[in-house]
Amino acid sequence: MVRVARCFLPLCLMAAVVMAATSGTRAQGSSNTQTSNATVAGGTQSAPAFDVNAAVDAYLAKMPPAERARSNAYFEGGYWLQLWDFLSTVVVMWLLLRFRVSVRMRDLAERITRFRPLQTAIYWVQFIILVTVVTFPLTICEGYIREHKYGLSNQAFGQWMRDQAVVLGVGIVLGAIFMVPLFGLVRRLGKNWWVWGAVATVVFIAFIALIAPAYIAPLFNKYAKLEDPSIKDPILSMARANGIPATDVYEFDASRQSNRVSANVSGFAGTLRISLNDNLLKRCTLPEIATTMGHEMGHYVLNHIYKALVMNGVVIVIGFAFLSWGISFALSRWGERWGVRGTGDIAVLPLAVIVLSIYFFITTPINNTITRTMEFEADMYGLNAARQPDGEANVDLLLGEYRKMDPGPIEEFVFFDHPSGRTRITAAMRWKAEHPETASAEELTRPMFTTP
Ligand SMILES: [Zn+2]
Repeated sequence: MVRVARCFLPLCLMAAVVMAATSGTRAQGSSNTQTSNATVAGGTQSAPAFDVNAAVDAYLAKMPPAERARSNAYFEGGYWLQLWDFLSTVVVMWLLLRFRVSVRMRDLAERITRFRPLQTAIYWVQFIILVTVVTFPLTICEGYIREHKYGLSNQAFGQWMRDQAVVLGVGIVLGAIFMVPLFGLVRRLGKNWWVWGAVATVVFIAFIALIAPAYIAPLFNKYAKLEDPSIKDPILSMARANGIPATDVYEFDASRQSNRVSANVSGFAGTLRISLNDNLLKRCTLPEIATTMGHEMGHYVLNHIYKALVMNGVVIVIGFAFLSWGISFALSRWGERWGVRGTGDIAVLPLAVIVLSIYFFITTPINNTITRTMEFEADMYGLNAARQPDGEANVDLLLGEYRKMDPGPIEEFVFFDHPSGRTRITAAMRWKAEHPETASAEELTRPMFTTP
């Protein structure tokens, strides 16, 4: 979905909201070592029972150096991709304006029909197809070649292309559903269009979040009810204990795309569902699955979807104010040269994308922090609900396959939309220190990586 975001930032945001809820992993175990509380016999004072930092380091050491180097290289490469994506978007959009491609697409739409909503839709279809084609070499590098280079993708090129075609199809339909009323509003409201434009955007994102589990996610993966009672029953018991009205847990074939472990809560109101991916089921033990599900239930109980809508809504309102200012600024200088008639002219879209790209590029740390904070809350909820600190630490290790384990604090603040492995394992070990009875020797000693 990354590529749709290139031409259409609101869809990117929507994806962020839809996916705001994620995490998870597991494995199988071996034996021994009780690392809980030993008191110093014979001393006048008892020593700290459990050294949290040492326990964290012991878990981090379970990741082989080669694996950690690979993960770091992959994740740090992602920082640069954000920059290249931003720059390439700005360049492509500027070319559309400078060489009047945008205006020509608008003129064609106006020749085809006099009905304005339809003109908007026709422009949108031309725009998204053109941008997808022009940026496709970069999309292949980032989405296919790079993923394979780091061993994170299971997809053959044909399958991957099929998913890209679906992404484009979804972008065409949803983008048209969004653009037509948005530009209708802009034309009717004059100067204050940005207020209602922002409101319409938030409503649209909520709409996407609502329909995604039933209508979008199944376009990419097969979802089935999880049948295995040895996994399903404890999960549903935890759900009941936490007041979640779930009667089913869903499993989806993420292995179609990769080996990554994850789970998510998607939808809300009537479409809410808890799903775990088949990699999680294959690679993780029951305590690891339980702690992951505890995390996902945390998203639900803490109403994270609604909170994300509100907090992202604030970011969007400010973004639209900036958008309004940026468009007026640029059109007053170059509007005539580009042939764009004004804010209500659909040919202004590439300019709008440039302004919003700048805004969301600058606010990356804010948006990441909104998400990361909720993810950390869900971690704490999962620890208290599942009571599996060692399982949690192991899951955090597996997530380290594609997310840097041990970044610096500023790096984590700027680039991480989930807490880093070290942050999560530290939380788990801190919790374990106060609940020594939950320690699991099997989880502690279980090897998580097959590579040397
Ligand atoms: Zn999460």
